[in-house]
Amino acid sequence: MTDTMPEDRVPPINLSPSQFREMGHRLIDQIADLLGSLPARPVTPGCLPTEIQKTLNATTPLPEKGTDPQALLDRAFALLSENSLYNGHPRFWGYITASAAPLGILGDCLAAAINPNVGAWKLSPMATEMEAQAIRWIAELIGYPADCGGVMVSGGNMANFVGFLAARAAKAGQAIRTAGGSSDTGRGLRVYSSQEGHTWIQKAADLFGLGTDAIRWIATDREQRIDLSELEREIMRDKQSGLRPFLVVGHAGTVSTGAIDPLPQLAVLCRAHDLWFHVDGAYGGLAASVPGVSPDIRGLAQADSVAVDPHKWLYQPLEAGCALVRRPEALRNAFSYHPPYYRFDDEAINYVDYGLQNSRGFRALKVWLTLQQAGREGYMWMIGDDIALSREMHDCLARDPEIEVFTQKLSITTFRYVPEDRRATIGEPDTEVFLNKLNEDLLGHLQDGGEAFVSNAVLDGRYVMRACIVNFRTTRADVRALPEIVTRLGRESDRRLRSGIHAPESTG
Ligand SMILES: *Cc1c(COP(=O)(O)O)cnc(C)c1O
Repeated sequence: MTDTMPEDRVPPINLSPSQFREMGHRLIDQIADLLGSLPARPVTPGCLPTEIQKTLNATTPLPEKGTDPQALLDRAFALLSENSLYNGHPRFWGYITASAAPLGILGDCLAAAINPNVGAWKLSPMATEMEAQAIRWIAELIGYPADCGGVMVSGGNMANFVGFLAARAAKAGQAIRTAGGSSDTGRGLRVYSSQEGHTWIQKAADLFGLGTDAIRWIATDREQRIDLSELEREIMRDKQSGLRPFLVVGHAGTVSTGAIDPLPQLAVLCRAHDLWFHVDGAYGGLAASVPGVSPDIRGLAQADSVAVDPHKWLYQPLEAGCALVRRPEALRNAFSYHPPYYRFDDEAINYVDYGLQNSRGFRALKVWLTLQQAGREGYMWMIGDDIALSREMHDCLARDPEIEVFTQKLSITTFRYVPEDRRATIGEPDTEVFLNKLNEDLLGHLQDGGEAFVSNAVLDGRYVMRACIVNFRTTRADVRALPEIVTRLGRESDRRLRSGIHAPESTG
């Protein structure tokens, strides 16, 4: 405290209520206009990192003196609204990122305003209970037992980590938490997933001390589903070698193609071998109750833990992930440092004991709001429509003689551009090498062009484009526009490659 401190502090970071109101109204107006203008904007600015750095004046040093907050907010809005990729655009179908629900945007603002620390009940009485309610509603939505435990996290990776650590504590015992990997039950742990598994599995095995060699990547069938007999063989072989299988990861929608593993059979197999059954449902788990989805997905109800991603198919603004566990105490057993008999606050949930975080934000509010705004019925419609639009996309791509389609599962369609004169030689090594190059070049231009946005996958060595619709703004007309864009840009890429002109490094 300085001697010159006045009686009334005027902290430079504060806004008076009237300033806040004025600036807030202006910002909300700008955001509303922006959301309304999305379809008319390019999906991406298509700029290089150096161009964006220049626009930002990225090398400016930390300012010594303060700046007018309205000017800052206006500048931030202008910078972001002119130089962002809009996953809220109706033609954004890249990776698995959703259009953000407008009520979720407002929910995040309210959450920041109340600013509860949802690590402890005492610090967030209503927020903690709203989180618990939102978690139960998610369980109900996907057909998971509603008396499960759960915790909201930042996304799918973290939700899967929570499942992984719950599995480890449950199967390797509390000794793994004290003696670590050298404990009797902590040595030689093995985890099983199909080859289509996401990189979170490597990160978990690595970060939590098993090492990535502890992962058994199991082959898949022609539908990208885990091969059950190979899985069982690997488990038996590891057991016979004195290793400790403890966890099988099943998929309710793989990240590349949306494949759904035979979850009911995985549940049976895990019970027979006393293994923890975790389902990575980050993408597809939220579609588990949608009519018309492969009934195999409903096997996630039998899992010991499930990861889902509200910032995917609940259309939440980033970030929102959710881990569910069948036995609520499994989370406390993995994360709490309060012995179960020591309940300093009976009845109260202290989320610090349920996961990796200590201080926690109120991610649950946006989920709590939008689940009620749409209701179960609304979500079934929206997710069902995304799937129907993806099937329609697949069908209209398939009708185009210059496009070859591969898979269509959940809301993911994979395809590639094939020039007419290459059609007869598909499968021949020269043509395949050329097509890989062509489609990579095409995708770079498609992404930078801003007309639509898709990402890629590699299927049996073939570079393919991959469109994933997790987007309540996408319409039929958007989907029907894709074949023309692909063939137009495909012809340009074909011409470029044939004349030996190589495109600059793609920024996508
Ligand atoms: C998206 C995804 C993840 C990772 O989720 P994040 O929210 O990006 O952390 C993990 N697994 C699958 C199957 C996914 O689709």
